[in-house]
Amino acid sequence: MYDLISELYPICRSITGDGVRRTLEIINRHVPLTVHEVCTGTKVFDWTVPREWNIRNAYIRTPAGEKIADFAESNLHVVNYSLPVSGEFPLHELRDHLFTLPEHPDWVPYRTSFFRESWGFCLSHRKLMSLKDGMYQVLIDSTLKDGSLTYGEAVIPGRTTDEVLISTHICHPSLCNDNLSGISLATQLARSLKTRQLRYSYRFLFIPSTIGSITWLSQNEDRLSRIMHGLVLACVGDSGMTTYKKSRRGNAEIDRAMMHALRHSGQAFETVDFFPFGYDERQYCSPGFDLPVGCLMRTPHGKFKEYHTSADNLDLVRPEFLADSYAKAVAALEILENNRTLINQNPKCEPQLGRRGLYRAYADQRDGGKEELAMLWVLNMSDGRNSLLDIADKSGLPFELVREAADLLQVHGLLGDHAS
Ligand code: ZN
Repeated sequence: MYDLISELYPICRSITGDGVRRTLEIINRHVPLTVHEVCTGTKVFDWTVPREWNIRNAYIRTPAGEKIADFAESNLHVVNYSLPVSGEFPLHELRDHLFTLPEHPDWVPYRTSFFRESWGFCLSHRKLMSLKDGMYQVLIDSTLKDGSLTYGEAVIPGRTTDEVLISTHICHPSLCNDNLSGISLATQLARSLKTRQLRYSYRFLFIPSTIGSITWLSQNEDRLSRIMHGLVLACVGDSGMTTYKKSRRGNAEIDRAMMHALRHSGQAFETVDFFPFGYDERQYCSPGFDLPVGCLMRTPHGKFKEYHTSADNLDLVRPEFLADSYAKAVAALEILENNRTLINQNPKCEPQLGRRGLYRAYADQRDGGKEELAMLWVLNMSDGRNSLLDIADKSGLPFELVREAADLLQVHGLLGDHAS
């Protein structure tokens, strides 16, 4: 995952353009993607697909001839979606187009002008302070013209057409935690799910934030009823603790699965209720859809000082934190894959487990009889009203233990499938 981040890091992405296409080409080497192009001007609910932005070069040349805010050095130097510019400006005029972070004088901010036509440069505050009066030569060799919005989609089929949606935004340029970390985690999840027998079908979306999810939703409205669970992945590579933002419903199965996985991870974590800003969960959880989609993060957007700056770089994200986020996402998906509601076939008093070898099977284990406890919980609660996840939560036992107990009891005919 870290290698993929390193490979994607230099590319100048935006909500449209060749940087997105190049990114999808690289992801496609790991997960076969269907790449969609949606024409500029397409109406998507209350929005319109914007003109496509591409950039080749940009810099400012000081009166002394020094090249500063050079796009070739970092794509963050140019305000993303800047109009093309070529000309000379006195410093006092140029200043209106320069953005810095006085509180972090060596960092370069990340700025965009997606839905308003303007141009600008981002640079370190230290560099800005060093500039002397005079005429500055400015070049932004960009184009903003009719084209398309590009996004990638991968479907990994399971036994049913019920879907789990995994969505991640691909519109940020050289920023690692937000959101090359989400891209690489989604890619790795897709790679590993591809090799498995699955209950659910998994739909992965690699989309520009906001306009991408709005576009996808508007073009797939007739299939949304298939989405049973969903996760938005963002900011999953930093050292902070895992944060799970619940779906708008707040008690969807994905919310409960994710929280169960985190509670049993042995690590500190935070859960937060849905709020209507952040990433694409805003669109999936808009009232007209209210899909069961939560958001998995470590330190949330805006809560880490490197957020939307040049310091969100290859040092901020680490392989071990990516691996930890991956493990937690997989743990939650395992719960979704295996959660079910069963019926006790012998509900009048406890069945005699010893006679079936179910006590003896564990007699010499020293784990406090947790397996037996799990069987008793499953038998008692399997009245058709409690899923295995309900039972795991009520008993405080890990889902995996409850599921193993249920599998064993089912093999012995003591549990039957809930006729649904
Ligand atoms: Zn962002």
